[in-house]
Amino acid sequence: MMRRLLLLLFAALPACAAGLRAGAARVDITPDGPIWMSGYASRNHPSEGVRQRLFARALAIDPGSGGRVVIISTDLVGLPASIADEVAARVRNRFGIERARLLLNSSHTHTGPVVWPNLAAMWDLPADEETKLREYAVRLTGDLVTAAGNALADLAPAQLSFGFGEVGFAVNRREPSARGIRIGVNPAGPVDHQVPVIKVAAPDGRVRAVLFAYACHNTTLTGDSYQLSGDYAGVAEAQLESDYPGATALFLSLCEGDQNPNPRSTVELAEQHGHALAAEVHRVLNGDLRPLRGPVRAAWVETRLRFAPQPRSVYEADLANPKASPALRNRARKMLASPVTGVAYPVQALRFAHDLTLLALGGEAVVDYDLRAKREYTGEPLVVAAYSNSVMCYIPSERVLAEGGYEAVDNLVYYGQPGPFAPGVETSVFDAIHQAMKRVGRSK
Ligand SMILES: [Zn+2]
Repeated sequence: MMRRLLLLLFAALPACAAGLRAGAARVDITPDGPIWMSGYASRNHPSEGVRQRLFARALAIDPGSGGRVVIISTDLVGLPASIADEVAARVRNRFGIERARLLLNSSHTHTGPVVWPNLAAMWDLPADEETKLREYAVRLTGDLVTAAGNALADLAPAQLSFGFGEVGFAVNRREPSARGIRIGVNPAGPVDHQVPVIKVAAPDGRVRAVLFAYACHNTTLTGDSYQLSGDYAGVAEAQLESDYPGATALFLSLCEGDQNPNPRSTVELAEQHGHALAAEVHRVLNGDLRPLRGPVRAAWVETRLRFAPQPRSVYEADLANPKASPALRNRARKMLASPVTGVAYPVQALRFAHDLTLLALGGEAVVDYDLRAKREYTGEPLVVAAYSNSVMCYIPSERVLAEGGYEAVDNLVYYGQPGPFAPGVETSVFDAIHQAMKRVGRSK
């Protein structure tokens, strides 16, 4: 009888039985005082107060056998490689976490600070604003390392499980028009409404952390918003942390380069979308979840994506054009001083036993990457994040690159990149995805 009871207990607690531990932490990364906000070129002055505080949230997982993993989410537009690389180097030196086992993701809020030097070429910033942004980048780098350390210090026996829900407020934003593709609403375009959820519970069942994700630009709020906030993702995180006292709720951005919340543009709508997302996560957490076990296999592949060559005359014309925007002029000056031919691109895979793989792509990848990866890798659940580790520009699929529009062409001005990618960008990204997936033992 006793033996049967014990067997039943072990069957019910697979993760605990294997000695899995998890830890979570939250560090406030709200800038002190007014700061230049990222995401919209139309802004012409620094922030005016705080609607919602911004956080870096970290989840550490020690599967008991094999290496530990740290996942950090940030209520920010995206991290430049310079900050991600420095954080990764310090986390490795201090805590022994390898690069492949640290995942940095950003919620892509457009009501957060500029994360220097990303997207800073959008404006001709006053010198004192640039100084504030450089200081914020230094502070943020330290804060992200602190978040990782605090989550590791919080490691305690835990049960991990996962499930999927769905919410429908993301819409494809690449709207065909007489003048080509513009940012609007395209109900016929591809979307992925899935909401992956990972639950981290204490042995007594108390929720200690929730990791949830969605493929939708965190841009309910527009360029006339000057209060700092985490937009819909921040609302959902705050709601879940209030529903589960003491828990840390981390939001991960998925392949949402061409996905917008619909409708959008008011604080009320940001709250509506955030509450809808939190309610769905809440429903999934209280439904049938599958166990998430270790060990965690990890892979990191860095490839290089090539831009289509541009003649110098393109940039000389931008500089000679009195009507050129500050962003066009800044990009032209940069390219004439030191031409850029390509960009480093990180692809990461974290595979939990044979339960779930988390694929994390850099940049603002469009939803085609998510849909193709899920078509190619079937049989075991897959979550495809983007905005991970570093954000260098949008990552169009071959289809989007050929169609043109903001995600293919215009964004590169703001990111200070030379121009559109050369054909073959999707193949290069998928070559890296295939390598990373193979290293964690997944085949097509
Ligand atoms: Zn974006």
